[in-house]
Amino acid sequence: MNPRFFDRRSFFELIKGAAVILGLSSSGTIGAVALRQSNGREKDAHSQKATAIKPASPETLLLKDYRPQSLYKIQVTKTSKAKFPIIDMHSHPYPRSESEIDQWVRTMDEAGVEKTIILTMATGGEFDEIRKKYAKHPERFETWCGLDFLDYDKPGFGPLAVKELERCREAGARGVGEIHDKGKGLRSGKSNAVGMHPDDPRMDAIWEKCGELGMPVSLHVADPIWMYQKMDKHNDGLMNAYYWRLDNQPNIVGLSGMVDIFERTLARHRNTTFIACHFMNLDYDLTRLGEVLERNPNLYADIAARYAETAPIPRFAAQFYAKYADRLVYGTDMGFDKPMYEITFRILESQDEHFYEIEQFGYHWALNGLGLSDDILKRVYLENAAKILTRRRKLSRGVAAKKPLSSCAQLDSRGRLSPHDARQSTI
Ligand SMILES: [Zn+2]
Repeated sequence: MNPRFFDRRSFFELIKGAAVILGLSSSGTIGAVALRQSNGREKDAHSQKATAIKPASPETLLLKDYRPQSLYKIQVTKTSKAKFPIIDMHSHPYPRSESEIDQWVRTMDEAGVEKTIILTMATGGEFDEIRKKYAKHPERFETWCGLDFLDYDKPGFGPLAVKELERCREAGARGVGEIHDKGKGLRSGKSNAVGMHPDDPRMDAIWEKCGELGMPVSLHVADPIWMYQKMDKHNDGLMNAYYWRLDNQPNIVGLSGMVDIFERTLARHRNTTFIACHFMNLDYDLTRLGEVLERNPNLYADIAARYAETAPIPRFAAQFYAKYADRLVYGTDMGFDKPMYEITFRILESQDEHFYEIEQFGYHWALNGLGLSDDILKRVYLENAAKILTRRRKLSRGVAAKKPLSSCAQLDSRGRLSPHDARQSTI
């Protein structure tokens, strides 16, 4: 789960929480814009309080309430369906019912998402339960398991964790993730290994087994740079960073140290494919991520939940996408509502400038479209993911072969999308 996940609901819950602390009504805490947008009935019901908390003056307006609206008369692109078919390599079991899963499938159809990888972070009965829920849609979802870190500090941990990994593989897990280490040690869902990092020798047998079983590993290290900075007027990502702050966490390995740890892990386990979640949190220093990718052929990076961090630097980010188009995979990690997908398409595909998505991402800053070429989009949306999943099938020969990963998009022998209009081929 992306710890920075801001969907609209959670963001407004956060705002409402702040309202409770301040003793304000929820309808009046979102700021002037929300007050203007609230309907008349709500206004009447809260008229007294709403009057009491009329829009703040610039002297008292808080950054969290800042909702600028772009006035530029420029292109605004509405992209309801991705330009090419997609495999979403980073999502989670968000739906709470079967009907919500069915709704998700319908949304995927509308958005052009062929398949979604559910990173369950779970093992044992919990994994089995989640897997069962998605079994009705075997072509549309893959469920990946977590790792069991129970007894990580006791002898025999490695073999026990490997045994559970094999059991999950037998039960249908096709990969591992999302495994976190934000500097305190590894975590898989509720299972913690305080002080044990991915390059710890105790992890060697497990990472090796992942490679042997053809299970790619989705690994999230660190968090965005702004979370480590002082929470003061110089912090560029303050509004989001303060919510997920790490600057007040003692004895954690910093962002750079976690990247080093990840690299040592990659070097030791060349037969295991790793997917660094969220640009390895090097979205602020893509040059370094490029160097890490070049040194480590067993590494891919997903772009999940780092749209807001790359959209402020569209030209530099687009150059990075062009250079490493074979190593980046699409991901979301932000729930399963349609507008969420549309925002990602707008950022990747359009050339729009200076637009805001504060409720989705939690940053106050404006975004820009990257305007990626069709060739790059095809690779990031689907082809690279297809390569990972195909390689995995080859590695796991002996385990019952599954149907082709994509029921619609046709890939040639090089794993490239067929040259026909991919939009016609989506489900
Ligand atoms: Zn996640």
